[in-house]
Amino acid sequence: MAKNVLDACINSIRDEGLIKNLLLASTAIVVAEFDYLTQGLGMTLYSIPGSDRVASALTTVDMKRVYSGTFVKSKGTRGMYDQLKAAPKNDVCPLCAQRTVSTLDHYLAQAIHPALTVVPLNLVPACAECNKLKLDYQPASEIEQSFHPYFDDFDDAQWLVAEVLETVPAAVRFSVAAPAAWSATKISRAAAHFESFRLASLYASHAGVEISNIRYSLERVASSGTPEDVRLLLSDRAASAQRAHVNAWQTATYQALAASYWFCSGGFRV
Ligand SMILES: [Zn+2]
Repeated sequence: MAKNVLDACINSIRDEGLIKNLLLASTAIVVAEFDYLTQGLGMTLYSIPGSDRVASALTTVDMKRVYSGTFVKSKGTRGMYDQLKAAPKNDVCPLCAQRTVSTLDHYLAQAIHPALTVVPLNLVPACAECNKLKLDYQPASEIEQSFHPYFDDFDDAQWLVAEVLETVPAAVRFSVAAPAAWSATKISRAAAHFESFRLASLYASHAGVEISNIRYSLERVASSGTPEDVRLLLSDRAASAQRAHVNAWQTATYQALAASYWFCSGGFRV
């Protein structure tokens, strides 16, 4: 809750003037948190208007100081910060599903929404690269909103798919599918997320390494078997990856490799 974070920050701050202003702004921050929760549930966070201050007492610069100078660093608040950061399984960034979490990203930028600077619901664990790619981005409509790990479920269907490129060496190209049960808005949001976090190139690079890692193993199967034996091995890997994470690049990669006769019948060698 924002109130707990705010109280812990106030207890760790020495600047009397800043403490006074934080106390004056605390109701506005609690109201902003409630509004954020309501808008988040309706996926209308983009409609929250920006501001350059909180309740006339605090500026964006003040709030950035509270966040970076106190919330992130002070003994009394660091536990809360670390707890938010540690939420994802295996420390994997929920935005790219690949790199390691190293920070908290303000889903609605702190430069535009000072009242939300220390609101936990607005603080999403992220890797440094995803955090950098977002910067002070402000979505202008529902479809421009990237995934919000606290409000969205984008793993209720497979949206990440891939196809084999018959190149030398073999490569994989990723794209966004349109799950039948999804609304057009949700599909557009997945596409926007995929685009803004540059997931196509990130995943293509990892898939390329994976293909070279399994080459020897596939050659061994092919030397005493048929393309169907290769396909079965790849298909088994796809099923296993899918059980772990339906939208992982590994799932899409192995599905694409298994579905490519060209790859199974020797494309993996080049
Ligand atoms: Zn990331």
